[in-house]
Amino acid sequence: MRVIGYTYPWDLTEDPWRRDRVLGLGLDAVAVAGAYHAVRAATSTHPRQRTKVASHAAFYRPVDPSRFGTLVPRPAGWTESADAFGETVALLQGAGVPALAWTVLSHSSELGGRHPDHTVVNAFGETYPWALCTSHPDTLALAAALVSELSAGHQLDGYVLEAVGHLGFEHGGLHDKTMSYSALERSLLSTCFAPCCREARGTDADDDLAAAVREAMQPGGAAGHPDADLAGVLGAERTDLLAAGQERAVGGMAAAVAEVLPPSVEVHLPASPDVHASGPFAPVGPALRGLPAGTAPFAAAWGSLDKIETQVRTLVEASDGAPVGAYLTYIEPGAPPLAEQVARAAEAGASSVHLYHLGLCSAAQLDEVAALVQSLR
Ligand SMILES: [Zn+2]
Repeated sequence: MRVIGYTYPWDLTEDPWRRDRVLGLGLDAVAVAGAYHAVRAATSTHPRQRTKVASHAAFYRPVDPSRFGTLVPRPAGWTESADAFGETVALLQGAGVPALAWTVLSHSSELGGRHPDHTVVNAFGETYPWALCTSHPDTLALAAALVSELSAGHQLDGYVLEAVGHLGFEHGGLHDKTMSYSALERSLLSTCFAPCCREARGTDADDDLAAAVREAMQPGGAAGHPDADLAGVLGAERTDLLAAGQERAVGGMAAAVAEVLPPSVEVHLPASPDVHASGPFAPVGPALRGLPAGTAPFAAAWGSLDKIETQVRTLVEASDGAPVGAYLTYIEPGAPPLAEQVARAAEAGASSVHLYHLGLCSAAQLDEVAALVQSLR
């Protein structure tokens, strides 16, 4: 069982206590946020602050605009170093810990806000500033540039590629009051009708698809029925059209990134077994078809032990023999003991666990990680 931890750059570059603790854990690899969305993070052992407010999506290295296209990420203004990512990689590798670049590809309210013509648009014509349309060539160029620039000057050991595929309706960055929408309605609202996605699916068929989505979401419409599902509401033909669109959009982004990945790096993919999935966890089939052989998808395995088992098993079944991992949290109140989570994930077929999160957790929770790693050695 491989054990991979997650961290923000400031957790190691600004917090000596945590840095020493993390470097001594004996982890197989640590993923460091290099291109990352906005966040308000706990910094419970930082010598000078107790919260870190990353007020916009940022690139944690110096930004050279000439290396990017139309979409140029902003650097972070809240880290003590301009190359916080690069320094963290050097700290990890200097201590013999492989370093992975945790790279968020299509989620940036900062870029979506500045470039509304590059965002996801729903069937009602509403733009989602937090979500870049992954059929747009400029989004592909951004993804490729982020990946290239993170490895500039470093021999990274690998990448965690988050949001290979567009984000949809879900967005944790606002005070959400959307609880009345069902999972199906959220899925319908997540379908992208931006020009590039429409063009890729074929405009005539797309007018019909958008009308069907709107119809299903009228008061008393089919989407509101508790037993409704996508194919039942849209019909098999339109559902297949959507799946083919996902294949092109997600597969296209995966292929664009694969072209610039350094040779022989390990690649980890937050993934969903559902071809219609939107969000950080990309549809596993199309994404794996674009990414290099050996890419390891991993499942969102948060919650009860039974839920962990189901999530991992379902992804294993959808992943065509790829080595599957489990994304586990031990920082949520009420989370099962980490050792039990790992045991259940292994039973379900996981060969790696991704531990969220070495910077956000308490000192006692770091002890839990240390005990886990010792027990596995
Ligand atoms: Zn789109």
